[in-house]
Amino acid sequence: MELLEDRIRQDGVVKDGGVLKVDSFLNHQLDIELLDACGEEFKRLFGDVLITKILTIEASGIGIACGVARCFGVPVVFAKKAQSINLDGDAYVTRIQSYTHGRIFDVIVSKKYIGPEDHILIIDDFLANGCALDGLIDICQHAGASIEGIGVAIEKGFQPGGRSLRERGFRLESLAIVESMDPETGAVEFRSRIKPNQLRSKHDHT
Ligand code: 5GP
Repeated sequence: MELLEDRIRQDGVVKDGGVLKVDSFLNHQLDIELLDACGEEFKRLFGDVLITKILTIEASGIGIACGVARCFGVPVVFAKKAQSINLDGDAYVTRIQSYTHGRIFDVIVSKKYIGPEDHILIIDDFLANGCALDGLIDICQHAGASIEGIGVAIEKGFQPGGRSLRERGFRLESLAIVESMDPETGAVEFRSRIKPNQLRSKHDHT
């Protein structure tokens, strides 16, 4: 998505350790117009399937998930990072390794908000190794809900999460795929997309 790529080039900050900071527009201060545009793009990409709920993880997925939920006209459910687990059986629990903090934590979703009748679109801000999305997939599977697709704003294509999810057969759409980024210069390169009209003109010339 060109708008998002341009914004990353303009305001993203490349840190050491393969971390891209986008907190001036995506996950701390929120640019609502941009989030709405991302929501519309996900609606275009997943508009052919029935979606009853958007599932994300607190805190940084919530902003983008709200933009998507508005376009689908469905609620957002976010997995909560649990301080202490209440094991009275009223919540799905899974364990996630945090990419940015390195530590492992439990997340929970109340059984009230996801069930076997749900058709879920999982949304997150970033995809790196795929641990956060694996946790959300695990919760959907425990709930017996159908996972219709996974949408992420920024996939870091040089890390393995995206490839692994696609190989496992999930329908994964990323609005921007970072191919490489350089903390010295701040340069960010994106995976190029072949648009349908480019494909057609390629065939026309052969
Ligand atoms: P994964 O679980 O795929 O390794 O990492 C995804 C999660 O870690 C996302 O929910 C996101 O919050 C965080 N994350 C991973 N990489 C980055 C990054 O480069 N920048 C920021 N801001 N968050 C990231």
